[in-house]
Amino acid sequence: MDAALGAPAKMAEREEDLTPMMAQYFELCREYDDSLVLFQVGDFYEAFCEAAERVARICEITLTKREDSTGEYAMSGIPIDNAESYIERLLESGYRVAVADQVEDPDEVSGVVDRAVTRVVTPGTLTEDELLRSADNNYVACLTADGPGGDASTRDTSRAGGGAGAGGDGDGPYGLALLDVSTGDCYATGADRLDSIADELGRFAPAEAIVGPAAPADVFDGDCMVSPYERTAFDAERARERVEAYFGDLGLADEAEVRACGALLAYAEYTRGGNPDAGDIGDDSTAEVAGPGSTAGDDGVDDTATLDYINPLTRYDPREYMLLDRVALESLELFDRRAVHGDRALTLVDALDETACALGRRKLDDWLRRPLLDEDRIAARHDAVAELTGDVTLREDLHDLLDDVYDIERLISRVARGRATARDLRSLHDTLAVVPDVEAALADADSATLVELREHLDPLTDVRELIDEAIQRDPDADLTEGGIVEPDFDEELAELRATEREGKAWIDDLEAGERERTGIDSLKVGHTSVHGYYIEVTDPNLDSVPDDYQRRQTLKNSERFVTPELREREDEIIRAEDRADDLEYELFCAVRRDVAEESERVQALADRLARLDVFVSFASVAAKFDYTRPAVGADEFEVAAGRHPVVERTEERFVPNDAHFDDEHFFAVVTGPNMSGKSTYMRQVALTSVLAQAGSFVPAAEARLPVVDRVFTRVGASDDIAGGRSTFMVEMTELADILTNATEDSLVLLDEVGRGTSTADGLAIARAVTEHVHDEVGATTLFATHHHELTAIADDLSGVFNLHFETERTDGEVAFEHEVAPGAAAASYGIEVAKLAGVPAEVVDRSRELLGESGSDERGEPAADANGYDPGENVRVSSTADEETRGGGDRPASDLERKLVALDVATMTPLEAMNALAELKESLDE
Ligand code: ADP
Repeated sequence: MDAALGAPAKMAEREEDLTPMMAQYFELCREYDDSLVLFQVGDFYEAFCEAAERVARICEITLTKREDSTGEYAMSGIPIDNAESYIERLLESGYRVAVADQVEDPDEVSGVVDRAVTRVVTPGTLTEDELLRSADNNYVACLTADGPGGDASTRDTSRAGGGAGAGGDGDGPYGLALLDVSTGDCYATGADRLDSIADELGRFAPAEAIVGPAAPADVFDGDCMVSPYERTAFDAERARERVEAYFGDLGLADEAEVRACGALLAYAEYTRGGNPDAGDIGDDSTAEVAGPGSTAGDDGVDDTATLDYINPLTRYDPREYMLLDRVALESLELFDRRAVHGDRALTLVDALDETACALGRRKLDDWLRRPLLDEDRIAARHDAVAELTGDVTLREDLHDLLDDVYDIERLISRVARGRATARDLRSLHDTLAVVPDVEAALADADSATLVELREHLDPLTDVRELIDEAIQRDPDADLTEGGIVEPDFDEELAELRATEREGKAWIDDLEAGERERTGIDSLKVGHTSVHGYYIEVTDPNLDSVPDDYQRRQTLKNSERFVTPELREREDEIIRAEDRADDLEYELFCAVRRDVAEESERVQALADRLARLDVFVSFASVAAKFDYTRPAVGADEFEVAAGRHPVVERTEERFVPNDAHFDDEHFFAVVTGPNMSGKSTYMRQVALTSVLAQAGSFVPAAEARLPVVDRVFTRVGASDDIAGGRSTFMVEMTELADILTNATEDSLVLLDEVGRGTSTADGLAIARAVTEHVHDEVGATTLFATHHHELTAIADDLSGVFNLHFETERTDGEVAFEHEVAPGAAAASYGIEVAKLAGVPAEVVDRSRELLGESGSDERGEPAADANGYDPGENVRVSSTADEETRGGGDRPASDLERKLVALDVATMTPLEAMNALAELKESLDE
């Protein structure tokens, strides 16, 4: 954190001279010295001095000067009405924002109004709807290390997020807790190795993190705002107490995990908003543990009361889920559109998202992020999807119903934090009203999963009825102006509103009555917000005005009057109205508290609706795009006519491909020219497993799959420019991770290993990697490579087989078929592709020539025969460089190729080259 955020030294020096307001400001700055303090002055949040300059710059607002007894200083203010968008900018610039609101009514105090920090807005603890994209989770993480010393500086943490460096074995155990403040989702896990922690971080991609005393901050990636936090919050005893206060005794044995959880809760409390209806704004009753906000509470508000929107803690063992680290998530393009190559705008989650509500969309994310390993659980999900895929009516009915479901997860969290409006409660009501219909729709469901879901749907009838009785149908947005509570909900309220109504009715009748009494036909009764009720008489009629009329206002052509009776009635109305408005607010808060009591049930309901939504979404996609139910838990990986779930949507004609791996043949070397479809194929194989284990059907004609414990990817160049490491270094770091952590049950995708170094180096590394994975790991592997020599390894290692992408040549041109076939590809299509792309003929020819030269000296060792996996389709790679370089390893060089090689392009003039080219073309045409 930027230490200079606090009270500017210059001002602090003159402390004794400060005006009371500025003294208050600096006091808050000191207390919240890790945040930018926004200080309410009337309708604005102000920052002063250096902070003002910062705010003005970041928010692009005007910097003004202010002068008081201490001299002149800078000041900048953002309008409270529009504060969220400015706060967002400050967050984006890496600041925490402490919002200090006026906590006294300026009209009721003499002297300076008291202010207190009501919330600390940080990237990971956002709750304000407008700052969050509704479909995404937003996590704040907390990491602790229990290892002896745990000195982060000695650890090798140079890693690409998910990839492991050599380090990370010794300094655990580590504890990791994650919380989405906006939904209350809370996870905890532990690991002995930093690698595993990094993998989990890759999975959740927290926006913010706090770290314990010995925990390494550099395991978080650059997008995550990391800061140390109050040591005391990590104290084991305190942390345990806090965790138990929220979740009960969970029997958490793991100290690091407990400390992570406890500290995270403390931090969440610290950033929590005030609780206006409890009147404890700014009361940081957790301060004795939690840090900067150390104004200890005096009204004994229960610590846990303000955070009870937190869902039951999900403790999970990473080993229960397929591991997808950051590298894998990115290269498989699961969530992050930024990572998507080319102009394809779809990510996997987009392609699969037919969810009807935000609850479902977040659940879909969660399931894709954490695919299951347990065959029974996977099959249970598939059962539900199968039933819904087969029943269009049920599927569509459910989708329509779920369409009316509000984001009750976030909504109930606002209820519990005392921030929900009457409209929020009405939205909750409307969602609850859908539940019986959902139950009815599922009445005939057969699959155990859907039956179980239906049986546990809690319509929360009591809560729904309470809201319906209490809250008006179309309530006011404002909570203090009335118009939110049904008058009949409360006797006193009913009486007050009746008084108000009667008073108004009396006034309504007044006009006719007074016209009759005075004989003035044009007499009018009206109302203005400033002057209240009046009787208006035009000037010509003033003579007829009775004695009891008192003049209130003179207008151009008329006078306005009141009568004592009218005044009395008016007072009565105002009194009743004021009292009724206050009472409505009180009643509303009470209802809100009652609803908050039921948070847990609402969350359980939200979870079930979310799951149902994902099932329906999976089923819609399956039906629409012709997916099939995979059998998960097979011994082999067998996919017939598989497709890439995203590419198939963007490609006019997608060519399906088979995949087959078993114990005997588990390592495929995939060759073929650029753009022939290698990466697509490899990703498609991995995505099939991800989808299947997440519970979805898969894009294929048939699929039998093993349970994959983890997908490793080393795909494409992911330059870590910000991290200051070369592509090659990143590549090798990722590779090291794969080689140390992959198991027999893993799926490994390697694309062009060793490309970032010299050919000889790269080839050597590629070969060694292949041998290691083959001999020591036994993981199902797809290895796409340009090192054609690698195809020969199939002869030496029994588990290795070759696959290649077919290309079609017509008229000497290459066309991509995107069709995978057994055996190795011809040596190199690179030059043909260059030609295809319109590279000038001279260059193409010269490349051929050079390839001929370098090809022959580089391959000192004759390439061995490469056997395709399918013995019936053995493909021979010729053993002499000459032949191989001239047009494909599986056939002798053609006439044309011999002629080409004979051309000495280096000494030719362009004209000679053109002629030679024409001649070649002619010979082809013949
Ligand atoms: P490579 O990895 O061999 O360079 P890619 O997998 O990136 O090739 O594929 C190149 C392009 O070809 C992709 O952008 C994709 O749109 C298209 N493509 C790949 N596989 C198929 C397929 N099976 N059917 C149709 N088009 C495909």
